[in-house]
Amino acid sequence: ATMPPLLAAVANAGRHGVLVKSAVVMEQLGTTTRVAFDKTGTLTRGAPELREVRLLPGAGCAEDEVLRLAAAVERLSEHPLASAVVRAADLRGIALPAADGFSAQPGRGVSGVVEDRRVRVCSPAAVDSPRGGPEAAAVVADLQERGDTAVVVLCDGRPLGVLGITDQLRAEAQAGVAALTRLTGAAPVLLTGDNRAAATRLAERVGITDVRADLLPEDKVGAVRDLQARGQRVAAVGDGINDAPALAAAHTGIAMGGAGADLTLRAADAIVVRDDLSAIPAVIALSRRARRVVT
Ligand code: ADP
Ligand code: MG
Repeated sequence: ATMPPLLAAVANAGRHGVLVKSAVVMEQLGTTTRVAFDKTGTLTRGAPELREVRLLPGAGCAEDEVLRLAAAVERLSEHPLASAVVRAADLRGIALPAADGFSAQPGRGVSGVVEDRRVRVCSPAAVDSPRGGPEAAAVVADLQERGDTAVVVLCDGRPLGVLGITDQLRAEAQAGVAALTRLTGAAPVLLTGDNRAAATRLAERVGITDVRADLLPEDKVGAVRDLQARGQRVAAVGDGINDAPALAAAHTGIAMGGAGADLTLRAADAIVVRDDLSAIPAVIALSRRARRVVT
């Protein structure tokens, strides 16, 4: 007997490096009218690098000390930004102390106790402004203007410094976005927890104009629902724990498998196993062809 077209398409998607979890998902993929991308780890490679440590006035310590405290906590995080901080500390030969009481707030940052001090590494938006102070705000704005992700390092509530981190666009991002724009008739949207300046700069380079920045995980869900309320059939693509709720809310959730968090892989309907964005338009096209055979 010959294989039903949708099952054949699932097998074919596998050859493109995409694990489609069911024939139903395979069928739905072809009805996508709008794709929503996460930024870090999805449109970017997810291998960010620390570019700079900026000390804040009154830090009372050296740059390496800020990095040491931050990396001690980030060592326990699975976020791509965390590996940039840990790698930078390694490169500088900094020995990392143990951290206790680790906690992560998806889309915000991490915190832990290092040598009896509460250390937080988080987005500027997650720092209450009176404590962040005008100096921190100026440094953050400066780093963001050049397209960096800025994260603040606090020790017992006092901001010590700001880290400037940058991630490279995936080589295939622009072509992938162009192919999806052709297939769905509309450019994808960008949903990110990062700042607007960095998000807009990157979006321009890949051909995305609809940018929603500074989003918490629940805001990403809101953005997906908002598109759906306007009649769109949304495929949401992401890699992080922060993306899992949006992937679950979307018509089709697609996880980038390379560095994807466990929870995200489970929330997804399809997983891009071979770390290549251009597999997504390829699989949508496969679904369309299979649907034409079925109906
Ligand atoms: P994106 O949507 O671009 O993938 P996230 O939602 O994961 O980004 O994170 C949003 C922001 O929260 C980051 O830009 C960063 O400022 C902060 N953040 C999240 N996790 C961490 C972490 N482990 N260390 C430092 N900052 C973090
Ligand atoms: Mg991400």
